[in-house]
Amino acid sequence: MSKSELTSYQQKDEAYVWHAMKPYNPTNTLIAKEAKGVWVTDKGGKRFLDAMSGLWCVNVGYGREELAEAAYEQMKQLAYFPLTHSHGPAIELAEKLNELLGGDYVIFYSNSGSEANEVAFKIARQYHQQKGDSNRYKIISRYRSYHGNTMGAMAATGQAQRKYKYEPMTTGFLHVAPPDTYRSPVDSTKTGREREEVKAIEQMMVWELAETVAAVIMEPIITGGGILLPPEDYLTSVQEVCQEKGALLIVDEVICGFGRTGEPFGFMNYGVKPDIITMAKGITSAYLPLSVTAVKKEVYDAFKGSEEYDYFRHVNTFGGNPAACALALKNLEIMEKEGLYTRAKVVGAEMLEELIKELLPHPNVGDVRGKGLLIGIELVNDKETKEPIDVQLVNKVIASCKEKGVIIGKNGATVAGFNNVLTIAPPLIINEEEVKLLVKTIVESVKLNL
Ligand code: PLP
Repeated sequence: MSKSELTSYQQKDEAYVWHAMKPYNPTNTLIAKEAKGVWVTDKGGKRFLDAMSGLWCVNVGYGREELAEAAYEQMKQLAYFPLTHSHGPAIELAEKLNELLGGDYVIFYSNSGSEANEVAFKIARQYHQQKGDSNRYKIISRYRSYHGNTMGAMAATGQAQRKYKYEPMTTGFLHVAPPDTYRSPVDSTKTGREREEVKAIEQMMVWELAETVAAVIMEPIITGGGILLPPEDYLTSVQEVCQEKGALLIVDEVICGFGRTGEPFGFMNYGVKPDIITMAKGITSAYLPLSVTAVKKEVYDAFKGSEEYDYFRHVNTFGGNPAACALALKNLEIMEKEGLYTRAKVVGAEMLEELIKELLPHPNVGDVRGKGLLIGIELVNDKETKEPIDVQLVNKVIASCKEKGVIIGKNGATVAGFNNVLTIAPPLIINEEEVKLLVKTIVESVKLNL
């Protein structure tokens, strides 16, 4: 594409497209043309290794013709039919997801992660009402978490900057501190429910009256909030508290699901069986919009009463679109055929080891952590005080990587005082050469700019 054509695209982009999160910047906006594997090519012909999988979602990589064909074939046969009735791809995908989850779940379809979480909140609230426990409406989540952009999901989100200017929030959402094992190292004298972060949830239930709490929602690993891995027994302990107090445990697998952490779902690293599981992004590797709220059968069964208001009174037009479901099935088939869950675990562990070796000695690198192909590098001014580095410096490292043709991310720009974690979440098919290039580029960019 000629320089003048590119300029024309940039001008039209600025004139007509409202971009998320930031003002238009012609020197910074990548106008993508095509992509294959982990590589995205822009309109000017420059290639980028996309180490963020778009927005943590293109798990099987770009340019998979089998996925396009699965959607095409399905569209020719049955492009759309609402799930007030049913269709084959929705049924088959629900069966497949059950197989991955170990059975016992009923699948509700929507279109985005935010919607899947909204559905989870509504189901949790109605579930308690169905059981005659109608005071339970509060949802507990954690600071630094992100659960979506719609009013309920935003209220559940624990990042104040994402809410500022959109208040007042939907009521009934409460927040506690998440585990942060870098800033509060795991105290090995305390385990399970003795841990401060678990006690915070239990204490919140006591203060708020447990009989008003409908559910606790959490990602297994906080992703966009800074790649925060919990202590190994955190989730099982939280589930124990939930069960004791009668609240449901909702696990948000929107990023952690579908192999990102080296398991089909992130919670599988931690030995829990959530009551409700929300999924999106990697379910179709983002080739088409689709999300899921998987609900344990015993929760679903509470909705089987005979009164009109016993039904889950929630409908959406596009959720469970046949082409999206057919594509998701093919996407899951690819993941299994190519062993991508294990691959993410193995390649991720090697990459983490290499990044730790190369970067941890640097005076501004406080911590390098991750699971599977989900890695965070926490930048600090000072290793002793752990004071977060200025966000401008984080941006410089990211810009330097991009200049060298590698896209990495950071935790949102939305976590108060902690916009200091570089994030890496490449497609699970990334090969050894590409991993080497990725590590080399990040190491060079950190050393060059800090
Ligand atoms: N939950 C988590 C953990 C997310 O990271 C996101 C999006 O990044 C969402 C929910 C919302 O998903 P969506 O952007 O598809 O609405």
